Amino acid sequence: MVAQEVNEQDVVALDAQHVWHPYGAFPPSTVPLVVESASGVRLRLRDGRELIDGMSSWWAAIHGYQHPVIDEAATNQLARMSHVMFGGLTHEPAVRLAQTLVGITPQPLQKVFFADSGSVSIEVAVKMCLQYWRSLGRGEKRRLLTWRGGYHGDTFTPMSVCDPDGGMHALWTDILAEQIFAPVPPADFDLEYRDTLAALIRSHAHELAAVIVEPVVQGAGGMRFHDARYLTELRRLCDENDVLLIFDEIATGFGRTGEMFAADHANVSPDVMCVGKALTGGYLTMAAVLCTDLIAHTISAGEAGGLMHGPTFMANPLACAISQASIDLLTARDWRREVDEIEQGLRAGLAPARGLPGVRDVRIKGAIGVIELAGPVPMQLATDAAVKRGVWLRPFRNLVYTMPPFISTPDEVAQIADAMVAVCHAAG
Ligand code: PLP
Repeated sequence: MVAQEVNEQDVVALDAQHVWHPYGAFPPSTVPLVVESASGVRLRLRDGRELIDGMSSWWAAIHGYQHPVIDEAATNQLARMSHVMFGGLTHEPAVRLAQTLVGITPQPLQKVFFADSGSVSIEVAVKMCLQYWRSLGRGEKRRLLTWRGGYHGDTFTPMSVCDPDGGMHALWTDILAEQIFAPVPPADFDLEYRDTLAALIRSHAHELAAVIVEPVVQGAGGMRFHDARYLTELRRLCDENDVLLIFDEIATGFGRTGEMFAADHANVSPDVMCVGKALTGGYLTMAAVLCTDLIAHTISAGEAGGLMHGPTFMANPLACAISQASIDLLTARDWRREVDEIEQGLRAGLAPARGLPGVRDVRIKGAIGVIELAGPVPMQLATDAAVKRGVWLRPFRNLVYTMPPFISTPDEVAQIADAMVAVCHAAG
């Protein structure tokens, strides 16, 4: 049976009638564009327009869309099996991918737990840390310390460590686990801030299971960058105070900041690391949690006898095969040069935004470009201004930002930057 085509107006109407969108309401605050297909860096709309994707589908599509190598890996895997349960069974795609991840992440990370999404991987990472301390008879160590301005996902444990200052999860403050917050890390290394962190970690060490942070780049909590030396300090403070360290590399992983992982800017290894988003090159939802042998063995020797977590779609073979192809593709290419060229392109392209009325800051790190405005950007106005210039952007609050696919050409990066500047003009 051939599925019946629904015309564009009907798609939009049905969407508005039945479908929740991220952070969505009914009726939706903006009218979604209908995407028909995507290839390379371009989204093709139902009405025939083409947009360069300046968002890489929220950090994920680093190779763009429909990459022939990843498509082929997916087709080959589909011909074998798309899914099989992971309890009591294993398969080559999972084993290979785990070996690859262990090979490219900091050396102390040796064990891999496959999760369904970034938020779930944070849940797993936190559970690992709490269970580690329980296994050692120190169940009182169950709180987390983080710095303000963070974002770690939308389920309840990640929400408890998101930015608490009027952030997107403010509605739930009264029922979220009470965590410990340090101020937002300054962009530059600051001894006073280091001392604040040290004092907080020391005074709460008896109840702290772990410190959890986004290394070097804070994403959806404010798109802020900070000095990598804070990671070195956190490692030292955690070691001195018997606290575990979790790095959330869900947005920063796989080259985005100019190193394979943001932790590599400081050559620091956390005890637990979460990766997601670009793990599958943006093809499917999957994340992974890596941890040390010590954590895995301590949990395994504890009273539960293992980590009490096992999602139905754990280590989905199709997602594993796709992730493997995505990482192989990345490491085979000169991704550092690609990210560096994007960085240079964004520096040049966003320069005209500096000094515009209403522009508070312009910052660039690796393949990430951010314009911070003094006030909120009206979403529909921003989208319209970017789409008019053939670019897909999704500003939030007072931030107009981009993280282009690594395959973007200098002209495409220039077009994205131009659209961002146009959004600022429109908003100002
Ligand atoms: N952690 C960080 C740093 C993120 O940027 C995100 C998503 O934007 C998440 C966690 C949550 O990942 P997911 O949306 O896959 O649940």
